[in-house]
Amino acid sequence: MPILTVPTTAAGFFQLDSVRPGPEPRLSVAASSNEGEGMNSVIVTNQSPVGAWHHYRNNSTGELYPSIGGYRGGNIGFQSLALLHELAHTLLLIPPDGGDPTGAMSRDNTQTIVDHCLTAVRQALGN
Ligand SMILES: [Zn+2]
Repeated sequence: MPILTVPTTAAGFFQLDSVRPGPEPRLSVAASSNEGEGMNSVIVTNQSPVGAWHHYRNNSTGELYPSIGGYRGGNIGFQSLALLHELAHTLLLIPPDGGDPTGAMSRDNTQTIVDHCLTAVRQALGN
């Protein structure tokens, strides 16, 4: 019987096979998760070559993707805050927003993450 290792920290969660690259049809979405699944959650980062995980704008249309905490897509600060947003979803620390087609709930949730995490992310990145 395999031994199940239960992560007790965000770093431990991210070291498990809980964050995976994957397809995301919405180019402006950097990452997604199965909200409320706790340690069984999987966070998927948008691996589209023109998506928000890797780029700050859609090179085909010129559309600027939303920034997070002043960081643009493709930047590690942006990616860190996007992962923290998804981690918060997995633990229901922020409300689900996957069913909101306007994106307003997601923006509100991102602001919550920025309010609580931006200083720590900036310190970790030295900027
Ligand atoms: Zn969200």
